[in-house]
Amino acid sequence: LSVIAVPPARAAAVLPYQDPSLPVATRVADLLGRMSLDDKAGQMTQSERGTTTAADVTAYRVGSVLSGGGSAPANNTPAGWADMYDGYQRAALATPLQIPILYGIDAVHGNNNVPGSTIFPHNIGLGATRDAALVERIGKATAEEVTGAGQDWTFAPCLCVARNDRWGRTYESYGEKPELATAMTTIVDGLQDNGVLATAKHYIGDGGTTGGVDQGNTEISEAELRSVHLPPFTAAVERGVGSVMLSFSSFNGAKLHGHKYLITDLLKGELGFTGFVVSDWAAIDQLDGQRGFTQAEVVTAVNAGLDMAMVPADWKVFVGYLKAAVQAGQIPMTRIDDANRRILTKKFELGLFEKPYADRSLTTTIGSTEHRALARQAVRQSQVLLKRGILPLAKTGGKIFVAGKSADDLGNQSGGWTLSWQGASGNTVTGTSILSGIRAAVGAGTTVTYNRDGTGIDSSYRAAVAVVGETPYAEGEGDRPGSMSLDATDLATLSRLRAAGVPVIVVLVSGRPLDIAAEVGNWNALLAAWLPGTEGAGVADVLFGDYAPTGKLPVTWMQSAAQQPINDGDGKTPLYPYGFGLTYSDPPADTTAPSVPAAPTATGVTGTGLTLTWPASTDTGGSGLAGYDVYRDGVLIGSPAVATYTVSGLSAATGYEFTVAARDAAGNRSARSAALAVTTASGTPGGSCRVRYTTNDWSTGFTGTVAVTNTGTTAVS
Ligand code: BGC
Repeated sequence: LSVIAVPPARAAAVLPYQDPSLPVATRVADLLGRMSLDDKAGQMTQSERGTTTAADVTAYRVGSVLSGGGSAPANNTPAGWADMYDGYQRAALATPLQIPILYGIDAVHGNNNVPGSTIFPHNIGLGATRDAALVERIGKATAEEVTGAGQDWTFAPCLCVARNDRWGRTYESYGEKPELATAMTTIVDGLQDNGVLATAKHYIGDGGTTGGVDQGNTEISEAELRSVHLPPFTAAVERGVGSVMLSFSSFNGAKLHGHKYLITDLLKGELGFTGFVVSDWAAIDQLDGQRGFTQAEVVTAVNAGLDMAMVPADWKVFVGYLKAAVQAGQIPMTRIDDANRRILTKKFELGLFEKPYADRSLTTTIGSTEHRALARQAVRQSQVLLKRGILPLAKTGGKIFVAGKSADDLGNQSGGWTLSWQGASGNTVTGTSILSGIRAAVGAGTTVTYNRDGTGIDSSYRAAVAVVGETPYAEGEGDRPGSMSLDATDLATLSRLRAAGVPVIVVLVSGRPLDIAAEVGNWNALLAAWLPGTEGAGVADVLFGDYAPTGKLPVTWMQSAAQQPINDGDGKTPLYPYGFGLTYSDPPADTTAPSVPAAPTATGVTGTGLTLTWPASTDTGGSGLAGYDVYRDGVLIGSPAVATYTVSGLSAATGYEFTVAARDAAGNRSARSAALAVTTASGTPGGSCRVRYTTNDWSTGFTGTVAVTNTGTTAVS
């Protein structure tokens, strides 16, 4: 009697949840009503590729599979990844309700899992750019390379606010300030607007643990937790981030994975987070502080608000515990339904029910010219010029010597989370090393000589470029004691270069500030390159002035590792303050300041007087050394032309601190030496331990305060 457009057979096959014209909430409610406990437990389970067959996915109705730390399929190519994904997806669609899986990977600086992909600077370098729009474009490019390899979910961004640079994950942080990490949440839009689910991690306080210990304990007030560590999560939730990963760490002794107040009340309640909460790697297992996975731990985590468990190896045990706990009434079905609703909503929103298989049209974006150009721009903007010296280098004339273990090492440039969890030294990825970038930048008449350890340099070179710093690591591996100093290899390379008497330009490849205060006076120039990734040409662009540096420190640069934790505003005096970064328009004039004199020693102590002496400073290539400025307790008391000065009129009632700076003929002054503390019979080391710099202090060029360290004491008789 009436004309029905849809053929009856097709209409009968489409259940409400399969109908894309219905609202997502309607589809979720319909699907939930059809699910058994097996289906629901499966959705809450995330297993690891290495422990999961396609048949497992079908049999256990697994909701998500991950590749932990780059764990790759046998055919480790974009096509191999996409084939693997499709294999699991086919298995998921073979379940009665045909619910697609989500596949999670750590695409934390580009799709760093797949050979040939573009590796962007790690977050610390992106923080230095201060460019939220750039970071959003990186999110888009990353989403395309992730989609091109078949995946739909990345465990990024890390929104940790790193408050102690001893932490081995400092490089995963955009910086030490909540407002910086908050600004960079644009990456969530870049990822999610381009079809990849993002994860705000690690909730919460992961960067604030005591001692900077990975997976440690964040012992601060709730007010500080909220003011320092919460803002980036609030911003990510406002941007609609689809998932949040819990931190391995504890808040005042209570593990985050069991923290109902922080997960359910604060994140889901107060912040209104509607996505799902995923655990970190086997983290539920750590809940009771005992070895071994228990049903009680599962009950604690799920009742606290965990929606999906990353249970890489023992996921079948998790499924068993979860179902048993529900059957025993230990976890209410309302909680299970809430978790499922959250997970399924994201699967519907991603369009997985309509387009479950890999989008191979995007495979060509992996490592594309366009993405590499974007990464090179990010590298340029992430460089922080800490000491200018003779930079920028001229492209023509003379010879340049390049040395250092990271000059020609794409693995070192890229850091951890590059093809493997820990990353590795060596040319592991496809890209341009800093050395290649330098070679490509110079004009035909200029010779570039490279020797990794600096052997073979002599005074015929106009400059030496030393690329030194950290080798790759990830997570707790970076917490090694002593790991904040330059290693013996770097120090040996640098001393060979220095012995040649040519200006030494240091490019520091590292995931965080290193303890360099004792060395920096020997260097003509210093560029913090962070972990730039595959496009080393961006570093050369800055060295040769094709791009005048704009990067600003995303973290306070300590005088010494003993100052950690050090943060802007905490009263400690840094080597370079948060936000510091020079460019090529400052400072003008003579570009070579004298080296920082070594600390003075006191001799000829007679009554109320003494004579200070110190090793001579040098002025490498500037206008020549003119003399020294001597300070007592930060006050200039004399300007001798030679490296000695006699002080008189000291009082026995107090103590003193003496420092010296060197000055050249153009008036450029070095930073001050370490202090000599002088005690008297009744006094303590005197004065303020802080020295205020003037804008005339060329080598540092800022007006903040700088710490001076006592190198010894001398009694005045
Ligand atoms: C890390 C997470 C990561 C997960 C999966 C964990 O060890 O803490 O940041 O997403 O592994 O690889």
